[in-house]
Amino acid sequence: MSNVIQTHPAVNASAAKRKRPLTITSYHPEPGMPVSLVITCDGKESHYWAERIRSEFGIAVRFSKAWDGRTRDFATEEYDVLLDGDRSSCECMGFLRHGYCRHVTAAVQLLAEGKLQPAPRPEHAPERP
Ligand SMILES: [Zn+2]
Repeated sequence: MSNVIQTHPAVNASAAKRKRPLTITSYHPEPGMPVSLVITCDGKESHYWAERIRSEFGIAVRFSKAWDGRTRDFATEEYDVLLDGDRSSCECMGFLRHGYCRHVTAAVQLLAEGKLQPAPRPEHAPERP
């Protein structure tokens, strides 16, 4: 008697709860001003400012967490996102742990909506040492 063990790809199971649905609402920025956005996940809102920062390659976006009025500290949390295709990254704990995060998702969406204009790439990239 033998048991047939069916293997389920672990990827599918984890993929289901992998990316939680995010709702990203952003306000029209004024020229030269950061974009104001609200990321809603599991009913919890997080408020951020987002603005492009200089980067040697890819597109870098800095997310600064805005005070939500619920905490006493006006501590600034900043996360820098680098959009570079499959090598996109963020410096937050979520990205370090899971390899994806809301900031990268939000940055991609903001770019797609034309709210963060990509920096013009130089015609000739500087030579690397
Ligand atoms: Zn992040």
